[in-house]
Amino acid sequence: MSTPFDLAIVGGGIHGATVALFCARAGMRTVLFERGSLCREASGVNAGTLTMQMTRVALIPYALQAHAMWASAREWLGHDAGVVVCDGLSLAFTQREVELLSFRAGKRREAGAPIDLVTATAARAVEPGLGEGVLLAAHCKVDGYANAYLTGQAYHAALIEAGVDLREETPVSGVEREEGGFAVQTAAGPVRAKRLVLAGGVWLEEMMAWLGITLPIKVLVNQLAVTERVAPVMRTVVGIASGLLSLKQYPHGTVVIGGGWQGRGDRQRGGVELVPESLIGNMRLACHAIPALRHARLARAWAGLEAETADALPAAGPIPGIPDAYICGSVHSGYTSGPYIARLLAQRILGQEPADPLFPIDRLLASPAASPTPSAAAGRATDEQPQHV
Ligand SMILES: Cc1cc2nc3c(=O)[nH]c(=O)nc-3n(C[C@H](O)[C@H](O)[C@H](O)COP(=O)(O)OP(=O)(O)OC[C@H]3O[C@@H](n4cnc5c(N)ncnc54)[C@H](O)[C@@H]3O)c2cc1C
Repeated sequence: MSTPFDLAIVGGGIHGATVALFCARAGMRTVLFERGSLCREASGVNAGTLTMQMTRVALIPYALQAHAMWASAREWLGHDAGVVVCDGLSLAFTQREVELLSFRAGKRREAGAPIDLVTATAARAVEPGLGEGVLLAAHCKVDGYANAYLTGQAYHAALIEAGVDLREETPVSGVEREEGGFAVQTAAGPVRAKRLVLAGGVWLEEMMAWLGITLPIKVLVNQLAVTERVAPVMRTVVGIASGLLSLKQYPHGTVVIGGGWQGRGDRQRGGVELVPESLIGNMRLACHAIPALRHARLARAWAGLEAETADALPAAGPIPGIPDAYICGSVHSGYTSGPYIARLLAQRILGQEPADPLFPIDRLLASPAASPTPSAAAGRATDEQPQHV
């Protein structure tokens, strides 16, 4: 029998890939299983926004650290993920949005995010492309975006360089506990490892069931669209107070339009379906915020599945009652914060004290509120009230 790996990770999104990278670099013999290609689910189809304005208050300190990681990705990841650091604006067009924005910006500011409330004139100085009717804006200098398409390529190269045994196109069908570790079941037979990390995004619920644990994970089906390449129409990341818009123009000219407008999807069956009315609403809002977009044609629209726990806080830490097993995922705005939270988990696995507290799932297993009805149309919950991102 071959020597067991020090660590097996199931799920090659931003969380699994980051844990693998840091553990392998610290000397652990690490194997990473991914059913498809690395970062091709949520971590490869997301809007790429790296923002404090849509991050839950409790996660702001983590998101700030993660933003700094993204901004220096070339150094620690060693490869380009197309990161652009720029200003971000969240807009209020109605009185209700003014109240929402003031409240949310205040909370995030208290948590450490450098967010200021500014007038429409001041906002237009930051983003000359803004349309009329802005009553108030929240301005954050720590904003920006990465290129989700490049993320997988960047991580792929980094993982290989770090010596990770990267097994793409390798679905895991189950995990069994055995003396000294785990047997990870694949079509080619079991692979043994002393430690295990489950990092399966919306599929964490079924992965936890392999270990006999019920952990409900809600599924959001976020829709996005991208325009053809157009002349510069904006230079910041733009959203609105409700969270129903995220808008930015990439350096090559395309504009990605998102905001948590929900499509339809099914994590068991696979596949997603766009809801045209919802897409049109999203486009209208985008053109209202940046009127020059009215002249741009849509090149493509798509949807992806995002995971959320019952309290919309991360599932990141040891799995209770199962020594040497860990979970990592369900991070709200998980592309923004994921690398930092996964790095904290790597520290824990390596026997170090994580630089910030993890998010153990005991709270989700103990509480009756941990049994929500999974809903594909639920949208994201935030600390204050329902909100899409
Ligand atoms: C459309 C969309 C837009 C978003 N926009 C933003 C944004 O702008 N900013 C932001 O911060 N966040 C955004 N998010 C959220 C963010 O993308 C996710 O929180 C994050 O990528 C989740 O990473 P993950 O590693 O937990 O999951 P995933 O990236 O989903 O990775 C899980 C992996 O597990 C694999 N897997 C599942 N089952 C198995 C199995 N049995 N065997 C092997 N592998 C398996 C899957 O194939 C998948 O690759 C968005 C999400 C979506 C869907």
